[in-house]
Amino acid sequence: MRNELTIEQVIALRDHFTARQHELLALTCALVETESPSGDKDGSSDVASLLASAAGSISAVTSVERITSEDFGEHIRIRAFVGEDDAAPIVILGHTDTVHPRGAIKERPWRADGNRIYGPGIFDMKANVALALEALHACEATNTLPKSPITILLTCDEESGSPSGRSLVEEEAKNARAVLVLEPPASGGRVKTGRKGTGIFAIEVRGRAAHAGLEPEKGISAVLELARQTIRLTNLNDPATGTTVTVTVVQGGTHSNVVPAEARAEIDMRFSSAEAGRRIESVILNLKPFDERAQVIVSGGINRPPLERTAKVRGLYQQAREIAGMLDFDLGEASVGGASDGNFVGALGVAVLDGLGIEGDGAHAAHEHIIVDNISLRGALLAGLIASL
Ligand SMILES: [Zn+2]
Repeated sequence: MRNELTIEQVIALRDHFTARQHELLALTCALVETESPSGDKDGSSDVASLLASAAGSISAVTSVERITSEDFGEHIRIRAFVGEDDAAPIVILGHTDTVHPRGAIKERPWRADGNRIYGPGIFDMKANVALALEALHACEATNTLPKSPITILLTCDEESGSPSGRSLVEEEAKNARAVLVLEPPASGGRVKTGRKGTGIFAIEVRGRAAHAGLEPEKGISAVLELARQTIRLTNLNDPATGTTVTVTVVQGGTHSNVVPAEARAEIDMRFSSAEAGRRIESVILNLKPFDERAQVIVSGGINRPPLERTAKVRGLYQQAREIAGMLDFDLGEASVGGASDGNFVGALGVAVLDGLGIEGDGAHAAHEHIIVDNISLRGALLAGLIASL
């Protein structure tokens, strides 16, 4: 560690989060009740306003920038603990958009049930956004001051694949000392030290229409061709190396008595190494028709590179584990199939640790919730990391 933390400091951080739980949950509730499905510009701006006002009350914060994204709303970038020297910052990365459509909050309002709080987008990741702001406050209040400047970058289009957030993430990450990603943890609170890369493709097949009863031999079935391609694509699955190729959406044909002239499908691809990704991408982009009279047109490609478990990633995990150990928590790690903005960071060769959010369950689902008595532990872990890196 650059800055050794004492056990007393880590416990003081945890106690800070316990004492401030009410305020942290009040901000989380306001964020959850301000719906911000990806692509909803008004919702995104309203959330940015809440965060800008909350950040404004933390004295370590030196600037709050709202960055307009034409199609998605506003990204927000908060800088804190900026000193005289231009040391490389630690970047805390998150997102303000959710997958829940507007109106979800009416059907599934904020609800506390024992140790759980339910609400659309609370676990992925509005509670974690509130946790990041409180981490700045915790370092300040306990006088556990970070040696590096801290940047909190919250994008507004992560759930849509980050078309406009990606360049911002890469710009901040490439100069960072480390990047801490606030995505939800895996079960048991495990952080994420590996994420598969993703590819998204569309396949379009063109055949020839004909009467299915009178002269079917004159037709070229686009549906048959697509079915054969679907089997070929499915055969690209390789569980041993972690490659998956799934045909997810299929459409084709026009009428029950017409040989179909058109068919189309969407393909989801996942891979564990950049090399495997490039290889499978090339196979998919170069599919040839089984029936030479049909046309097969493939578009798309790799969307996010994999987050590979490099030495830098392992080093950061080890450091987080030591801090968690001071809180009597054995921090596990996991490698997962889902991608996040952490994937873009990993590809730059920067130290990154993902899945640092609060424990819970039901991301993107109706039972989405967080575990309340986990807040102080995750808060102390995050604040301890930024203070010690
Ligand atoms: Zn997320």
